[in-house]
Amino acid sequence: MNSKEIRSQFLNFFKEKNHKIVASAPMVIKDDPTLLFTNAGMNQFKEYFLGNSVPKSSRVSDTQKCLRVSGKHNDLEEVGKDTYHHTMFEMLGNWSFGDYFKKEAIEWAWELLTDVLKVDKDSLYVSVFEGSSDADNLEMDMEAYNLWKAIVPEDRIIKGNKKDNFWEMGEQGPCGPCSEIHVDIRSAEEKAKVSGASLVNEDHPQVVEIWNLVFMQYNRKASGQLEPLPAKHVDTGMGFERLCMVLQNVKSNYDTDVFTPIIREIETITNSKYGKNEETDIAIRVIADHIRAVSFSIADGQLPSNTGAGYVIRRILRRAVRYGFTFLETKEPFMYRLVGVLNNIMGDAYPELKEQYQLIENVIKEEEHSFLKTLDQGLVLLDTIISNTKGKEVNGAKAFELYDTYGFPIDLTALILSEKGFSLDEAGFEKAMQEQKNRSKSASETSKEDWTILVNDQEQEFIGYDRLEADVKLVKFRKITSKKDGQQYQLVFNLTPFYAEGGGQVGDKGYLEASNGDVIYIIDTKRENNEIVHFSKNLPKKLEEVLKAVVDKKQRQRTEANHTATHLLHQALREVLGTHVEQKGSAVHSKYLRFDFSHFAKVTTEELREVEDFVNARIEGKLELQENKSVPMKQAIEEGAMALFGEKYGDAVRTIRFGKSIELCGGTHVKNTADIWHFKIKSEGAVASGIRRIEAITFDGVKEFYFENNRTLFEIKDVLNNAKDPVKAVVALQEENSSYKKQIAELLKDKAKNLKGDLLGSLEEINGVQFLAKKVDLDAAGIKDLSFEMGQNKDNLFLLFGTEQKGKALLSCYISKELAASKNLNAGTIVRELGKFIQGGGGGQPFFATAGGKNPAGIEEALSKAKEYIS
Ligand code: ATP
Ligand code: MG
Repeated sequence: MNSKEIRSQFLNFFKEKNHKIVASAPMVIKDDPTLLFTNAGMNQFKEYFLGNSVPKSSRVSDTQKCLRVSGKHNDLEEVGKDTYHHTMFEMLGNWSFGDYFKKEAIEWAWELLTDVLKVDKDSLYVSVFEGSSDADNLEMDMEAYNLWKAIVPEDRIIKGNKKDNFWEMGEQGPCGPCSEIHVDIRSAEEKAKVSGASLVNEDHPQVVEIWNLVFMQYNRKASGQLEPLPAKHVDTGMGFERLCMVLQNVKSNYDTDVFTPIIREIETITNSKYGKNEETDIAIRVIADHIRAVSFSIADGQLPSNTGAGYVIRRILRRAVRYGFTFLETKEPFMYRLVGVLNNIMGDAYPELKEQYQLIENVIKEEEHSFLKTLDQGLVLLDTIISNTKGKEVNGAKAFELYDTYGFPIDLTALILSEKGFSLDEAGFEKAMQEQKNRSKSASETSKEDWTILVNDQEQEFIGYDRLEADVKLVKFRKITSKKDGQQYQLVFNLTPFYAEGGGQVGDKGYLEASNGDVIYIIDTKRENNEIVHFSKNLPKKLEEVLKAVVDKKQRQRTEANHTATHLLHQALREVLGTHVEQKGSAVHSKYLRFDFSHFAKVTTEELREVEDFVNARIEGKLELQENKSVPMKQAIEEGAMALFGEKYGDAVRTIRFGKSIELCGGTHVKNTADIWHFKIKSEGAVASGIRRIEAITFDGVKEFYFENNRTLFEIKDVLNNAKDPVKAVVALQEENSSYKKQIAELLKDKAKNLKGDLLGSLEEINGVQFLAKKVDLDAAGIKDLSFEMGQNKDNLFLLFGTEQKGKALLSCYISKELAASKNLNAGTIVRELGKFIQGGGGGQPFFATAGGKNPAGIEEALSKAKEYIS
């Protein structure tokens, strides 16, 4: 059975059991402060388990793109080394939200595996939770045990501990005991020698877990305590690639049709062979795995970058490039050439891949290029570190700097060092690493108390599309503390006019007013687990009373003007540049808007002008907002709304229309485009290969911009003695300036000539060498000219000049070519060694080289050492 059939068999089975089949949520998570990437099928349903919202169906099934590279579930370091953990994998799942429980979950899992998919019953083992005697003091899951006992012989039921049989998504949240299904795919002889039961959960590559049935019945509170959930749920997850391995009768996920085409392509591109040597096999598996993770992230809108989720993606890509570089000798970008095969295998199931194929290729190629450059630079820096090392052990802090500042991988450092007969001070490296982790951890860590609930089961309502003020009641609140923001409260109300950050638009600010006139400021609004959470520095005195909630109107108006302008900009770009333009991200603030989009060239000044005109024409056209709060998704798309991949949309969507611009959008907008007043582009540039960014302003932002510009102009006129025509005045100044520059250059030349004469006179002859080491007052270019001119006048020259320019030190060494050759002297080596005295480094050719450093005080000492090289 091929992988496509396996995927659809799974979904069909649960469809027949009355499950609604839903789409995979994005793998990259936006608008959730607690998670960067989807790490399990249940993530997108978290709010249902917590009881924050009610699902449309109580039985759901899907296949979910997961990524386990950060946080509680991180398999990155295993990937490639073993044959059954991936960074990105598909998780097949079925769910019950307060509907069926353990009995059906267990019986159906067994039916699907053994009846439908025909997995050999004798190769399966199951596990149940044995209970725990720790603080949670949980009993053994007898219910599951008895259900399994009716299906499988008792010696195939394994009692598992908390680590393996109690599932938790994170430090807090829904959790419960689980039953896993393991499969033993070893040969009959091996099975006869060692029992499968003894290998379950022992990291054996051929006795692996394939399916986990989680019975959600608790909520883990901040205090660490468990409380029973109001309703009980089922959450199951089966590794798709592992299931394919079992059904296709192979011994590794990488030997299934999910991976073999990628591996064949890697073999071709890198001229290598899979299955010949463990080291290259690992490298090939790493690459085959990571190309999926990176491609799918980019398809979900997450480009590699320097922070957050983008940084994680960059590191995954670099890990693959580095394995290629080290073990397959790839010195050119090659990963991007795998996107095509990946698209062939998975593009049908995941159209986001197909649609963005070209972009994904470009981004990966560009990333590879710049990382390979980093590797080259890193190799040079590492050489310098080695040459400055006394003894045979390289300082760990230095290696860490190379890793941290230049992104040079530490395992590569270690490998190169050992090749050159050096070792790495690993403890020092670890220490530097830990120190940095502590620094960034304490800055970002937030501790959250449990919610204090004032009103139970209160559904909340957002009324901020139409109103900016409302009487509200507090439903629950909690205290959170972080180093960055100090102590804050999170408040949830029965209804609210405050817009929560989302869809690129910032959260509202504003205040609450109590009956006695007390004011509490709302400093931000965010969505967490589908609740609108307001942030404040303090709590209302009377928690139960009605409060007046007021949104900061000015900020909201400015934000709305920017949001509507973003839609018009999107329309304008597709009109002016073409329909290949797709939104890749946006940030709508009160002061400016930012819009990222796909386009493969710089947007020209004329095009930008056209885009501005297009948007401003729509502002002048006074287009009315046409808002439709609930349209079926299908209809919206037919009407021309753009569906964005990487966004999670329910079945009914909200559409925002201004004239011909129509978008799916949950944000807030002006009532009429005239409210935008004016639209002005401030900058255009590249964010990644094939992705451009425009920043623009509207409304009051434009007014402020003109006001500022005007003021600057007045100030310029003022310093130009109230010149009537400031441009003319500046041009005159420039001309004057360039004639002065010429004169100065002439004077300097004369000075150098004189200097040259003086210096030629003060050459000292040592062992047949014309020697001079001296501090001079010339810049680098001046010294170079001087040295070469002296070289024309005299043979057998050895010159070392030092100079101090703008607080920095410079050394420059010139050796006549014949002299360098006959006495085996090397200016490059000499300046590198003398560079120590000025705390710097450098290099060059055997006959001319320079070194820069930060310690001018060391110049004299360096000069005084020069003689040693020739005597
Ligand atoms: P393991 O112990 O093998 O790491 P797990 O306990 O972390 O598995 P779960 O969190 O229960 O796994 O996830 C459910 C299922 O997803 C597993 O039974 C397995 O089939 C699959 N799975 C988990 N992690 C990975 C991974 N990194 N790559 C591929 N499949 C995985
Ligand atoms: Mg795991």
